[in-house]
Amino acid sequence: AKKLGRNNFQFYTPAMNDEAQERVRIESALRKALERDEFVLHYQPQVDLASGKIVGMEALIRWQHPELGMVPPMRFISVAEDIGLIVPIGAWVMRTACLQNRAWQDAGMGHLRVAVNLSARQFGSPDLLDNISAVLDESGLDANCLEIELTESLFMSDVTLAVELLHNMKAIGVNLSIDDFGTGYSSLSYLSRFPIDVLKIDRSFVTNITRDASDAALVASIINLAHNLKLSVIAEGVETEEQLDYLRRHGCDEMQGYYVSRPLPALEFELLLREHNQL
Ligand code: C2E
Ligand code: CA
Ligand code: CA
Ligand code: CA
Repeated sequence: AKKLGRNNFQFYTPAMNDEAQERVRIESALRKALERDEFVLHYQPQVDLASGKIVGMEALIRWQHPELGMVPPMRFISVAEDIGLIVPIGAWVMRTACLQNRAWQDAGMGHLRVAVNLSARQFGSPDLLDNISAVLDESGLDANCLEIELTESLFMSDVTLAVELLHNMKAIGVNLSIDDFGTGYSSLSYLSRFPIDVLKIDRSFVTNITRDASDAALVASIINLAHNLKLSVIAEGVETEEQLDYLRRHGCDEMQGYYVSRPLPALEFELLLREHNQL
């Protein structure tokens, strides 16, 4: 089905199952989505546990298609990776997020940090560093107000290259965080070799901290590990007060999750920010 999607050929055979048909539809629609301006970013607040203030936000892409409706990233990001569209889409995400953050800063919302997700294909792209620099130049955003979320899988294929790339990204001044920390298969040794700033504890551990003693122990250990390595730590997927209490008691630095807010369209995020931070 993947090959059929090239050049926008679409033919369905009875043998092709629903899933394959949907994949072909998504591929051809995705090729037009950028020029048709169908993507939007939603922003989810990141709260500093010491001050209780919103100090940043993760930008999460949404695709509003006229017929398919709101397509969640889980259904199109991997397709975009397969057909080589993730690089332009990722560049759009970074640019939009930086311009938005700068606009909020100019409107007096504070020195916020915006986090964007980077996919493996972008990480390997020769344009990545130039893109980051260009977007920071254009937006006038401080490099330390941009955070790039990477997953452990990015480092696996070529560690030497990864170390070099990360150092080049740090040289620009952006923050680097490891997303979904604890779910990958890589060894911990990279943590001391790579110039990382933040560990982001995966939701799967956070969900169970009040129910499962070993997940609770894991979360406490990750927080200690991060602090011993002079890294900051944020927990994602925080949905309850009990989870938040546990994280606070164990010295977690920041949190993100439905307990504070779902990812919101820019205008709603701004309202929440004003109210929450009393701006
Ligand atoms: P992620 O980077 O791990 O993002 C966190 C996901 O968890 C988001 O789903 C968010 O809406 C959801 N979430 C946040 N708080 C809670 C909570 O308290 N409970 C629960 N159950 N879920 C929570 P979303 O927006 O559907 O994104 C899914 C994945 O798609 C992301 O996982 C990320 O891997 C990918 N993604 C999203 N936007 C982008 C993007 O711009 N570029 C790339 N490359 N990937 C993206
Ligand atoms: Ca993320
Ligand atoms: Ca994550
Ligand atoms: Ca996750």
